[in-house]
Amino acid sequence: MWTVSEGINILRGRGAKITAQRIAILRQLEGRTDHPSADMLYKELAVDYPTMSVATVYSTAQLLADAGLIKILSIDDKRVYFDPTTSTHGHFLCRNCGKLVDLQINEEGFFKSASTAQNSIAQIDNAEIFLYGLCTDCFSQK
Ligand SMILES: [Zn+2]
Ligand SMILES: [Zn+2]
Repeated sequence: MWTVSEGINILRGRGAKITAQRIAILRQLEGRTDHPSADMLYKELAVDYPTMSVATVYSTAQLLADAGLIKILSIDDKRVYFDPTTSTHGHFLCRNCGKLVDLQINEEGFFKSASTAQNSIAQIDNAEIFLYGLCTDCFSQK
């Protein structure tokens, strides 16, 4: 997990322009574990930054993802979620309420089984592990 000033340094080191809106987006994402969607982030930021657009949120998110500061999750085909936790972990999406939960995975064991199961894999650079179902709240309301 990074801080806003670390994020600014990383972006600056990549030659990116540091604008007030980009700083605001960094601030809004810092330390979050709730995986906000682009729309959610936009609505939160529009209160203080009325000139902010959804397009700016998307383009800045892409910039942050390229810099390794966030992951853009495509777990849902209707929207993307932003995740400032970039270490390898899986996600569970509740198909009823849309709750997105982090899952710890045994990285070494997982990658080892993947690479031995298929000897065509030499190296894994990125992994997305998505599980879908019902959360305990939604399940108990059935
Ligand atoms: Zn649910
Ligand atoms: Zn996550």
